[in-house]
Amino acid sequence: MATIRLSSLDLGGIAEYLKSGACKSVVVLTGAGVSTGAGIPDFRSPGGLYDSLRPELITATENQRSAMRSDPTWVVMKDMFFANQLPYMEVRRPFILGTQHQKWKATISHWFIRFLEEEQFLTRLFTQNIDGLDYQTDLTRELVCNVHGSLGRVSCEGCQQEMPLDDFCVQVRKNIKDIYNVDPDAPKESSNIPCPSCSRPLVKPSTVLFGSSLPRDFFVHCQQELPKADLLIVAGTSLVVAPANQVVQMVGQDCPRLIVNKEPVGAELGIRYGSSATRDVFAGDRSCDEVFLELIRLMGWEDKLRRIRDRLPEGSQALVSAI
Ligand SMILES: [Zn+2]
Repeated sequence: MATIRLSSLDLGGIAEYLKSGACKSVVVLTGAGVSTGAGIPDFRSPGGLYDSLRPELITATENQRSAMRSDPTWVVMKDMFFANQLPYMEVRRPFILGTQHQKWKATISHWFIRFLEEEQFLTRLFTQNIDGLDYQTDLTRELVCNVHGSLGRVSCEGCQQEMPLDDFCVQVRKNIKDIYNVDPDAPKESSNIPCPSCSRPLVKPSTVLFGSSLPRDFFVHCQQELPKADLLIVAGTSLVVAPANQVVQMVGQDCPRLIVNKEPVGAELGIRYGSSATRDVFAGDRSCDEVFLELIRLMGWEDKLRRIRDRLPEGSQALVSAI
């Protein structure tokens, strides 16, 4: 019989549990929803990258375009990338260049995770995001597991040789056209970027392509840390991408799980909402940032947040002013 660890299945119950001393190890899994407050589009939501993808603008064969039309995730698939690198490069161009310039700022959600580390709760952050915003909060790098890789590092899919991000961005600016129509200096036609080491056009940010295996450390951390976790926080992810979504099933039978998302997700993975819930807490109908702001308040961490107010995206600064 599993132990019931929360006094109430809401944010208040989570805060009480964190303060009780019984919760010593928190694992967090994040997705695109924690970065939308920074202005980075969520891939899967209406208006997000996949929804607004326009295959007719992408340099590809008719067959490749029709594949992208039926399933936009083709742009990040391994088979597509090895056949034609330009769909990935053209779709990612503004994200690659924006990452280089730190165009986006870490949100309240990212800072909440940093506060968890400061208070010695955080065992691991698994992030499915490739934007690298977690590092802006000075979160200890070793605590972060980039489940799907990162835009901040560049390497060759063929020979694995790394390339400095700045050198790569010079090539992206010069070789890859702008399908979003925001950069007047972009070339009108795209051409491939050869790997400086093996000359094949396979150099790209070190994000994990669909169809490739995940970094080994993901599986190691899952096995070592999830069964011992006292709390799992899942934020801003639709939990549809395997194997990252398996994280919710690898914690102990009585480990409370806080799901922060616009709609309830993970029912097919065994997360129980409403009257059948015993350990799962759903916090939705608001942005991730608003939920974490409330949790920060419940934890009495407002001063931490005020101290970093100027480092937040403008929209979030207004939220902090209200507390
Ligand atoms: Zn190479």
